[in-house]
Amino acid sequence: MQYHSHLDKSVTASFGDALLASLTPDGGLWMPNKIPHFTPGQMADLGAMDFADCAAALAAHFTDDRFDEETLKSLCRDAYSYDVPMMTLGGERLDPAMAPNADEFVLELFHGPTLAFKDFAARFMGRAASHLMASSGQRRTILVATSGDTGGAIGDAFLDQDGVQVFILFPKGGVSKVQEQQLCTMGGKNSNVRALSVDGTFDDCQALVKTAFADAELSKRFDLMSANSINVGRVIPQSFYYVWASLQAKAAYPTRDLVISIPSGNLGNLTGGLIARKMGAPIDRFVVSHNVNDPFVDYLKDGEYRPRPSTPTLSNAMDIGRPNNFPRILSLFDGNLDAIREVCWGVSFDDETTARHIRRIYTDTGYLMCPHTAVGHMGMRAFREAHDIDATFLTVGTAHPAKFADSLETIIREDVPMPAPLAAAFEAKKRVTTIDPTLDALVDQIALVVT
Ligand SMILES: *Cc1c(COP(=O)(O)O)cnc(C)c1O
Repeated sequence: MQYHSHLDKSVTASFGDALLASLTPDGGLWMPNKIPHFTPGQMADLGAMDFADCAAALAAHFTDDRFDEETLKSLCRDAYSYDVPMMTLGGERLDPAMAPNADEFVLELFHGPTLAFKDFAARFMGRAASHLMASSGQRRTILVATSGDTGGAIGDAFLDQDGVQVFILFPKGGVSKVQEQQLCTMGGKNSNVRALSVDGTFDDCQALVKTAFADAELSKRFDLMSANSINVGRVIPQSFYYVWASLQAKAAYPTRDLVISIPSGNLGNLTGGLIARKMGAPIDRFVVSHNVNDPFVDYLKDGEYRPRPSTPTLSNAMDIGRPNNFPRILSLFDGNLDAIREVCWGVSFDDETTARHIRRIYTDTGYLMCPHTAVGHMGMRAFREAHDIDATFLTVGTAHPAKFADSLETIIREDVPMPAPLAAAFEAKKRVTTIDPTLDALVDQIALVVT
């Protein structure tokens, strides 16, 4: 597959080069030249595979000749060594024999090592980048701005990989206690993954990373690579689980439509879903669920896109005022707002409503949702109220509730048990440096370890 700049179709690169370059030379985002389309018969074959093999079969269409079939298969089996269940709130798996009338499921994408859906993209991208670097002897300095989950997933994916130094930039005081502990304890004392606590907001972190990339001299000096969702290597694998999950849901309940609600921030997850739908995945509608940081919801309403500074909320991974992937969505639809509206339905919720919903669902069913998943679940319910259709409704569960134990314990007034990987992070000593939100401060930190 060749990729092009969303600003200029004549600026092109192979998958591998687009992955390692992050941004296009003209400062745009890489987009696949042509999204492959599968017939219903081919889709049925993909749906019959397990998730890792389905991912590898799809990846073959998006990569280049440096990735042969066997490489992709072992890469995906290694990356996706965990469960991808679809669950009812009562704790049953998607299975028409067990639950013939069930029509609401949570697609739990949080069973990877850092307990958030970012693992799906990060683990594929990390392995793909390592594969490319191993064959060409290159090195990279990876900068990643995080509002909590991305940094952990990227750090985990690149930990101890040769030729790679990772800097995680997170907003000081802006991530959950569990997230911070996880970010600041990756690897030992000489770890290749370093945490930087930035005295500012997530938007400041993101702007800092963008400024560093825009600086050609710095990019060259440190071989900078972005691991944020501006990198096309993260967006592509996020289409894999939409293809696979939609095929499972459709096979289980073939006569129904399929509606998927996505708790959204930077819109990378939605972009993956839209790419899956273009490939022929049987998805009728996406509900794009936001917290109060909702410029995309406004855009769907009145056609005006007004990015703005972000406001802190309970669902901090979605506190994005200027979603990175908005230009990709426009590009997928050639800027046609009506076409976007046919596929995407937007809705947003404030923290008070979110907390009430978490408490009510937990009391009624025993299912505890992280604040992001809760926003997605409310979006799904709001869509149902507004549309009288017979459908299977999937809410994308983006993080394990234990990652947000601090806020959830205040909401449900009960302890939230820690799964093993998080408990281990709490044992380790934090290593973190606080910096001002300036390029000079960032460069000083990089120069300490990368020469
Ligand atoms: C990153 C993240 C989101 C938002 O995903 P986008 O791709 O940025 O829209 C939602 N929930 C959680 C838990 C996340 O980590």
